[in-house]
Amino acid sequence: MLNRTIFKLSLAGSLLLSCLNYNNAIAQTRTIRLHSHNDYKQNIPFLQAYYAGAASIEADVYLLNGQLYVAHEKQEIATGRTLTELYLKPLAVFYAKNNNHAYTDSSATLQLVVDIKEDYAHVIPQLLKELKPYQQMFNYPANKNAVQLVISGNMPAPAQFNQYPDYVYFDGRPTIVYRPEELKHIAMISDALSNYTPWNGKGSLTAPDSAKVKGVIDAAHAHKKPFRFWATQDSPNTWIQLERLGVDWINTDHPQQAHDFYVNRGKLQYTNAKPYAVYQPTFKSDGSNGRVKNVILLIGDGMGPAQIQAGLTANHGLLNMLQCRNIGFSQTRAANNDNTDSAAGATAMASGKKTNNRYIGMDAQGRPISNLPDTLATLGIKSGIITCGDVTDATPAAFYGHQNERTLSTAIANDLLKSHVDILVGSNQKSFLQNPDPGFTAKLKKQEYAIDTTLTAFMQAGKGKHLVLLNDAGTRSVLKGRGNMLQTSLKQTIKLLSANKKGFLVMTEGAQIDYGGHANDLPYIVTELHDFDKTVGEALKFADEDGETLVIITADHETGGLSLLDASTAQGMVLGNFSTNDHTSINVPVMAYGPGSQRFNGTYQNIEIYHKILSLMLGKK
Ligand code: MG
Ligand code: ZN
Repeated sequence: MLNRTIFKLSLAGSLLLSCLNYNNAIAQTRTIRLHSHNDYKQNIPFLQAYYAGAASIEADVYLLNGQLYVAHEKQEIATGRTLTELYLKPLAVFYAKNNNHAYTDSSATLQLVVDIKEDYAHVIPQLLKELKPYQQMFNYPANKNAVQLVISGNMPAPAQFNQYPDYVYFDGRPTIVYRPEELKHIAMISDALSNYTPWNGKGSLTAPDSAKVKGVIDAAHAHKKPFRFWATQDSPNTWIQLERLGVDWINTDHPQQAHDFYVNRGKLQYTNAKPYAVYQPTFKSDGSNGRVKNVILLIGDGMGPAQIQAGLTANHGLLNMLQCRNIGFSQTRAANNDNTDSAAGATAMASGKKTNNRYIGMDAQGRPISNLPDTLATLGIKSGIITCGDVTDATPAAFYGHQNERTLSTAIANDLLKSHVDILVGSNQKSFLQNPDPGFTAKLKKQEYAIDTTLTAFMQAGKGKHLVLLNDAGTRSVLKGRGNMLQTSLKQTIKLLSANKKGFLVMTEGAQIDYGGHANDLPYIVTELHDFDKTVGEALKFADEDGETLVIITADHETGGLSLLDASTAQGMVLGNFSTNDHTSINVPVMAYGPGSQRFNGTYQNIEIYHKILSLMLGKK
């Protein structure tokens, strides 16, 4: 069953969320719409809700001196704040401009709910009088594109409904049993949530309360009427929980916030129906003081604790990286900013020095600094760098480049000539193959690099130095069909480098976990994290086979300020929200496996990862 939530929204259109309720055995399509509750209390009544695409807008009215005023209490009545001025006139302007539709999206509808705060018998005749100039606009019985007028609050008895014009609808109550002819005048059924549960909007309702709430909604649906609760908490969690129980109208005092939540809903929720199997490590060499001949450093760019948790839930409670028993925390701040970027973050791990954001392989004073591949090469240790993004991007670049601006991709490409990296895999053919220096590829070949432009060519290699430059499609996202390029590249790189008796260092980057964070896109993050984690599984497997390989899994920083609002490990479902489109300063986990992994426990600065790797590979205890 397809479990993804699908919705559509047009710019000035009402919000329609057709969702397939994830926990229903039978897929059920519903429409969730926003009801702007007590709308006249907004800073700008009507317009804020209208531009948030609300499909229902509610105004409380009082009759004073022959005019209907909008206000919550009679004492709050203020000059000029009439139903006509704040609601009917602006609505009529839009309705005319949109060719007799409430919204520019002709499929979007609007209902105006007039909540009568005093005796309806006085108020309704005045309301009908004020609506008279707008009869076309409210001619809902004849024209479903018209605005539906709904009376709520102090209402006549159902038996009297037929005494009012056809275009007048009423807000029904679940406690009233309506006769079929009365039901025709009912637009929706509403009630206070507090009549069913004392729930405070946090977490979920108790099972008996859920049953009560679902029962009253189901009863309305049996009469083909949409259901709304008022007096609810007003937060994403409340909306989600009530939506799950079947509610049709999201009653909100924050139409813009609700709009933003629902417009992004498809990017905030991910369900992975079928989990992948994780590797079961033997733990034979784990935590030992044995030789560290090889190091596989796996960097999930932008992979903070919430990203890992999202991936864990979506894989039904298992991840390769969380098999590690030795776990620490890396503090990621840059020299000039507590929120690091990937340039300073990767330079810290590659070179053991804090530097400024945007700096690649340079210290904070702008001087080039030695990196792990160059330092280890003096000991005969070989290095491979793999990414599922561009090889000139900050994370891989910090392991061979030296530039004080991360976007200088041609200069970074040129830096490879002076580097001791043996294998470099990723995309960005342009900076190398269309390098302004016409002799550039000849120079690379002089450095003994075989240039492979496909993964297949690289896979056929039996030895030697390799520069693997995939076309851009080769590093597209997992969602767009990248396949298992990262795992394949790691396996082949290990195969080539493990022939070296002195050992190897391989840095493998899950580059696009960060892209998903910048895009505030949870399905993007989780699918990239799973791809990265499968690659971790390959590394753990090799470590067990080899016995002298240390595997380190960490991140350069967190991206997106991801928080997790709802999850189901059983369903592989996770729902999140983001607080930024940039990096945050939260500590990132360091998970280690193999000999020396115990040295990665505790909390330390990111530069310590460099120092620990170096001292372990140098055989220092
Ligand atoms: Mg990166
Ligand atoms: Zn980033």
